[in-house]
Amino acid sequence: MKTALITGGSRGIGRATAQQLAGLGMQVLINYKSNQQAADEVVNEIIASGGNAVAIQANIASEDEVTQMFATIREQYGDLDYLVNNAGILFQQCTAEQLTAERINTVMATNVTGLLICCREFIKNARHFNQFHGKAIVNVSSAAARLGSPNEYIDYAASKGAVDTITKGLSLELAELGIRVNGVRPGSIYTHMHTDGGEPARVDRVASQIPMKRGGQPEEIAEVITWLLSDASSYVTGAMIDATGGR
Ligand code: NAP
Repeated sequence: MKTALITGGSRGIGRATAQQLAGLGMQVLINYKSNQQAADEVVNEIIASGGNAVAIQANIASEDEVTQMFATIREQYGDLDYLVNNAGILFQQCTAEQLTAERINTVMATNVTGLLICCREFIKNARHFNQFHGKAIVNVSSAAARLGSPNEYIDYAASKGAVDTITKGLSLELAELGIRVNGVRPGSIYTHMHTDGGEPARVDRVASQIPMKRGGQPEEIAEVITWLLSDASSYVTGAMIDATGGR
């Protein structure tokens, strides 16, 4: 049985991904930061439909917590086949004038440093078991990396630009070992994240600017992630797939 770790797997896109991967017969390890109830809910749903899932708490912005999470996984679940770097945060919409160093650093600590530390631990895990070929990482970026999020959250957009660069570099570093690294750039997706940005109905507001004239569902992003992990994409590495309704 393949095992996948999904950071931020308890809500939104991560949750839809956990459900899809479990439906394909994988053991899914659902990382979350603080909302244990949401994590337990998705674990229980997966188990009730005959799947295999566990919740693992760790703040990926903490190097110690990430290291400890991977050590626990190694001891309790053995080798990891897939890593979905999905956990990401943003804050209240604002202009560049209103940004603070503290806020920028907080966004970067989760979206960039945390993601790269998770990649590091995944590679160390592969080395521990001396198994590389066939493993895959998918990084969840954002269309914001291309669009820049003016008047909303340039700090977040910048963090996603870094995610794209990490995806490129890591894909080249790991290609010969047979570990594929790809990314997906979602557009505006119906999740709770927009409430954190201060505009719960943001997706409906921007829908008219999207060529397909609608926001996306978390399941539509999970489909892309699932494909990028699967052997169906065995010759794809270093790719960024836009799943944005055309924007
Ligand atoms: P969401 O609904 O807000 O869910 C976020 C998830 O990440 C939750 O499971 C949360 O756990 C977890 N998380 C947050 N910070 C964490 C940390 N430091 N350590 C561990 N887990 C953490 O978000 P979403 O909209 O599904 O977004 C998922 C990814 O897609 C993000 O990377 C986001 O940037 C990207 N994305 C989203 C959209 C969109 O329109 N929604 C568009 C483009 C890209 P807790 O609940 O325990 O905090």
